[in-house]
Amino acid sequence: MKVCVIGLDGATWDLLDPWLDDLPTIKSFADERRTTLDSCIPPLSMPAWKVYSTGMNPGDLGVFTFVEPDFEEERFKTVTNESFTTREIWDYLGEHGHKSAVVNMPTTYPPRDIDGWQISGPFSGKQEDYTRPEELGRTLDRNGYTILPEYYLSRDPDDIGEAVDSVETKLQTSLGFTETADFVHTTLYLTDTVQHTEWDSPVAKSFWESVDEKLAWFLDELDDEWNVVLMSDHGFGHTKGRFYLNTWLEQEGYIHIDDSGFDFGDLFGLVGLDYDRALALMQKLRLSGVVLDVLPESFLRKVARQMPGNRKLEGLEDKIEWEADAVALAPLIYTRNRAVADEIRSKLLEVTDKYGDRVIQEVYYGEDIYPDADVRVPDLVIKHTDYGISDIVKPGVLFEYDGDWRHHKTAHHRRNGILTARGPDVEDIEFDEPRLYDLAPTILDGFGIDVPEDMRGESIGLLGSNSQRRPVPVERNVERVVEHDSDVEEKLKNLGYL
Ligand SMILES: [Zn+2]
Repeated sequence: MKVCVIGLDGATWDLLDPWLDDLPTIKSFADERRTTLDSCIPPLSMPAWKVYSTGMNPGDLGVFTFVEPDFEEERFKTVTNESFTTREIWDYLGEHGHKSAVVNMPTTYPPRDIDGWQISGPFSGKQEDYTRPEELGRTLDRNGYTILPEYYLSRDPDDIGEAVDSVETKLQTSLGFTETADFVHTTLYLTDTVQHTEWDSPVAKSFWESVDEKLAWFLDELDDEWNVVLMSDHGFGHTKGRFYLNTWLEQEGYIHIDDSGFDFGDLFGLVGLDYDRALALMQKLRLSGVVLDVLPESFLRKVARQMPGNRKLEGLEDKIEWEADAVALAPLIYTRNRAVADEIRSKLLEVTDKYGDRVIQEVYYGEDIYPDADVRVPDLVIKHTDYGISDIVKPGVLFEYDGDWRHHKTAHHRRNGILTARGPDVEDIEFDEPRLYDLAPTILDGFGIDVPEDMRGESIGLLGSNSQRRPVPVERNVERVVEHDSDVEEKLKNLGYL
């Protein structure tokens, strides 16, 4: 059994369907079988990729977004690969003698030893010590491999060629592993970036056409024995603008933002720094210890891009009262008690925009959507809306409207991901609303590996039903070290990496 999963970050049929005639490769998959893949709540790349690779929900994983609040230390911690302790698809495969290659999946930095190869994906901070085995990274560096191209920062349509090159590099690199591995996972992350910025613009369409061409090349090179699954970690939809949750919480009296202290947003707004200079200044501040050095480079870049005038989390954590009635990490809200949560929830459901439309259709209780979690779960989770729910504190600003939102130019995450597959072992099944966490059990089932009973998801039989559900431990053995073959260097040479 050979399985290659290509993750198209943020792909949704809503966007791709009208374009399918110009996306012949994706269309050839969709014509055979396709479905919507329901992402997790919240549908964010972190934790969604780990939901995919572990078959668990965010509550089981104890990770709900890119950062986690530490209420004792009163600070936010950046989530990394080390925040997760649950085994992933490749850990189970390795135990059963199958080698895996995991290329560019977000949430995999720092990399871990697996039985095979791992190349960390976005949010790595820096491109340093980002592969296992380590020497693979040095070879990739020499060949000009980049985790994220300049487009990720610039969002400049003129840089889109680099984004296409980066897709090609990821696929080329992955192809090298198909000689030896039984399972290859590759995430093409830039689809998410392009959609955030461009949504359904001609730039986005032409980018997708390039992705489709690269996929055609990849599939052509791939041996026929491979089953190929195209999926996404979450879907997407257009936005009308942004809703500033912290402003709302302050206006309603649930939090008080101490606006007197040092703040990057004020500073940058005052001196009118542009992106490059803001980034350079933040890097300097980090070196001098003013900015927590746990914050990865990519996060600083993100903050810098939102300058001037905006404030992100590192300003926030010194400003919020950690004992306040509510601490928000949009779309999550931690509250002092259930009564406060009830009150906030019912008020949020009443919020209307300038068109008089209700902004928030649903606010979930964390305990309902993350049952049996053994970590503190957020008390409330706002369901994705037509507005981006922002973490940024912008005193006095409750809404920002995209001037041209009717052109659907900007977009953000929804739960409507995609799933489609082709190959010799792919079964003609009737899809029954599969969920992202069903993929790990589905893949294990295809390989005939017993599916741990503790996994939330279930095999949907897409790659055959060859196993049973058993009480297999889902804990990762943190002491476990996968012995690489002593001739790993030889193999890398054979694959053309050394
Ligand atoms: Zn994503």
